[in-house]
Amino acid sequence: MADEKKYVYDFSEGKANMKELLGGKGANLAEMTTLGLPVPFGFTITTETCDSYYKNNKKYPAGMEKQVDEKLILLEKKMGMKLGDPANPLLLSIRSGAASSMPGMMDTILNLGLNDVVVEGLIKKTNNERFAWDSYRRFIQMFGNVVMEVEHKDFEAILDKKKETKGIEYDTQLDANDLKEIVSEYKAMIKKKTKREFPQSPKEQMFMAINAVFGSWNNDRAILYRKLNDIKGLLGTAVNVQSMVFGNMGDSSGTGVCFTRDPATGENKFYGEYLMNAQGEDVVAGIRTPQKLETLEKVNAKAYKELCDVRAKLEKHYKDMQDMEFTIQEGKLYMLQTRNGKRTAAAAVKIAVDMVNEGLIDKKTALLRVDPKSLDQLLHKQIDPLSKSKHTSVAQGLPASPGAAVGQAIFDAEKAYEWAEEGKKVVLIRTETSPEDLIGMNAAQGILTARGGMTSHAAVVARGMGKCCVAGCGDVIVNEEGGYFEVKGQRVKEGDYVTLNGTTGELFIGQLPTVDPELSGDFGILMKWADEVRRLKVRANADIPRDAIVAIKFGAEGIGLCRTEHMFFEGERIKAMREMILADDVAGRKKALDKLLPYQKSDFKGLFETMKGLPVTVRLLDPPLHEFLPKEEEDIQIIAKEMGVTPEKIKEKIVKLHEQNPMLGHRGCRLGITYPEITEMQTRAIIEAAIELKDEKLVPEIMIPLVGNVEEFKHQKEIVKKTADDIISKAGSKMKYKIGTMIEVPRGALTADQIAEEAEFFSFGTNDLTQMTLGYSRDDVASFVPEYIKLNILEKDPFQVLDQTGVGQLIKMAAAKGRGVKSDLKLGICGEHGGDPSSIIFCHDAGLDYVSCSPYRVPIARLAAAHAALKEVKSG
Ligand code: ADP
Ligand code: MG
Ligand code: MG
Repeated sequence: MADEKKYVYDFSEGKANMKELLGGKGANLAEMTTLGLPVPFGFTITTETCDSYYKNNKKYPAGMEKQVDEKLILLEKKMGMKLGDPANPLLLSIRSGAASSMPGMMDTILNLGLNDVVVEGLIKKTNNERFAWDSYRRFIQMFGNVVMEVEHKDFEAILDKKKETKGIEYDTQLDANDLKEIVSEYKAMIKKKTKREFPQSPKEQMFMAINAVFGSWNNDRAILYRKLNDIKGLLGTAVNVQSMVFGNMGDSSGTGVCFTRDPATGENKFYGEYLMNAQGEDVVAGIRTPQKLETLEKVNAKAYKELCDVRAKLEKHYKDMQDMEFTIQEGKLYMLQTRNGKRTAAAAVKIAVDMVNEGLIDKKTALLRVDPKSLDQLLHKQIDPLSKSKHTSVAQGLPASPGAAVGQAIFDAEKAYEWAEEGKKVVLIRTETSPEDLIGMNAAQGILTARGGMTSHAAVVARGMGKCCVAGCGDVIVNEEGGYFEVKGQRVKEGDYVTLNGTTGELFIGQLPTVDPELSGDFGILMKWADEVRRLKVRANADIPRDAIVAIKFGAEGIGLCRTEHMFFEGERIKAMREMILADDVAGRKKALDKLLPYQKSDFKGLFETMKGLPVTVRLLDPPLHEFLPKEEEDIQIIAKEMGVTPEKIKEKIVKLHEQNPMLGHRGCRLGITYPEITEMQTRAIIEAAIELKDEKLVPEIMIPLVGNVEEFKHQKEIVKKTADDIISKAGSKMKYKIGTMIEVPRGALTADQIAEEAEFFSFGTNDLTQMTLGYSRDDVASFVPEYIKLNILEKDPFQVLDQTGVGQLIKMAAAKGRGVKSDLKLGICGEHGGDPSSIIFCHDAGLDYVSCSPYRVPIARLAAAHAALKEVKSG
């Protein structure tokens, strides 16, 4: 077997860059060994072994066992001890470790190699009876749990009973005799539960443990963790077999974890926790409260100093913040693990900028170190992380818009507004929201809906406002009339406090403390670096000056989508709008539109003024008209009076306007085609506003929605052009403007070459494009998409993360067809995907000019666009 595959590497053979094969833990243990750090020796069984183990019906590949035996002999030689030798026993730790770190997800077994005989030998050798029994007790517990699958609580019950009879609080207070008794009780319990003896052969123990680690790769926890963290394409876990060092040998021994910098704030300060007279799992298990790392200096100055040296050495070597595990055995320091430490978004930003300033890394590396998505944490109010662990949520919805909201439950938009006016903090709770709820949404701290997906009305509007929103919270049953909601048998009434976590989708009853975001100077610096490397421009979706101001503050370079209909809901406007819809003829509509014109004009003026010459794309009226119709009797009365007709007449009209499928009905450019006077009025408002501003840089971009046929576009273009040119020439102005379209109907994408002959720009409306390409109603996805994701039919919600294989093809094709006709055709995206990092990378690769997203996502988009550019350079 000359060319037998190598399945086992000892720590002197590996390197940090062999993570795929050795797992992160194994690769770094090898790297630290080579660096000369005090690492207990051992060897790693590769991830490939795990892969073939699974492919081979849980059998080892040929030759692997022999290689393990050889490395074990080497290990025994190095340590001068032997596995299972009572006179001089070698004890082992068996540790999992995949290429991506999955902390705590898979299993570790410590003190392996002990049995009824070896434990006596260990006592003789160390002259420390308590230590030996403590180790055996721990071993049986871990092995019994992980390998023999006896529940943790069965061990805890025995341990707790012993502590209770002794009247003590901590494990460390148990003496050798107690521990010895516990050992035999454990063994008896295992025998009873599993009908098997606790295995006494150390070799057998070792292979059983190796199997268990391989098995843990596919435990539920690990599978879920990989899914949640997008970890894909790995071979499996490696298994590290390492000689033990003992933190439980008494008060001069201990164990701990530490970070080279503070993982919460990023501050360049040594941070960690440890426990004396303890083994690994004790620190995390919270049995005793661990000590702050700084105090270790007093306990053992020499070990502390050594640890500080390791800190400096490792950070310099890895050029990133390290998360390390160490053990002190009778005063001597050993390193057991190092990896790039997980950190909060704030820490990630600070560490990245600091490390550039310290000359450790360059700006590009710094940019790639910060996950664009994580910036959300910095831009919104958050639930105080300290309090999070103390509260449990009552229900889980979709994390529709990040941040935290605490306030009194309100079920009516008007009322939410009134309460907010009185200075109360409210959370608006609805089965689902409609544009009529805007006033309440705006006044509320946050919004909770029982139905709807990530691009439901509530979700889109809340993100635009930068307001916390939990959508599609199916366990919540809202009774708007009754003024309460029920969740899992609990009733929450109007005025009761609730807390939302829009970042995770959780709902809490009661008030949780929150913390405000703080945008540090480092954040601005990092953003500036991002701007230096990105090619994609970033615009914002904003309808009113207030949102535009936020957008500019976050670095938007224009407005990619101004949804004109959002302006129609406030105060008097909705009345005029309703009049327009309900009018019987052109004259009636014109009369109503004349009332709307001054509002629209002043809105546009405000928006143009705020944007100071930056591009602004205004979309003509788009939504189905029924959204504006009056529903309440009272509103119907008012409108009837206004129009001088009977309420019955209005009701008749409402019935007539009813559509089976409003999303596929009379909306978008179909409105402007059937009612050209709407297009005319809106064009007039845009152009007059622009002219009055006298800003030479200003070139309004007028966007025709929902075009699927070039004739539709031509029809609307003619009206816009005629109206605009007329106004411009009468005003003696030289103002320029552009007319373009949304590509959001599949047929629009398919015929993009024809449309490009006429249009000056395309903006991909990926919300509608996704809806129509997949045939999923975006307001109804909550009923099946979560199940699709669970079943792996869909990987992600296509309304959050662009379906690159399907919808993406249409985008690429339309971009190519469009540019084939007009090489300088400006291309953008204005759907919700414009703020999603992976979709932004797609847009970069598809050659788009800009992405447009809600104002609060602008920084995320800037950084994601930088990542796209950097990754392209790297791979190309
Ligand atoms: P995880 O991946 O869950 O962190 P580890 O394999 O790192 O699991 O093991 C958990 C803990 O067990 C370590 O933090 C360490 O304290 C302890 N441990 C692991 N290997 C050894 C060893 N060789 N000697 C002493 N303690 C160990
Ligand atoms: Mg660990
Ligand atoms: Mg649309």
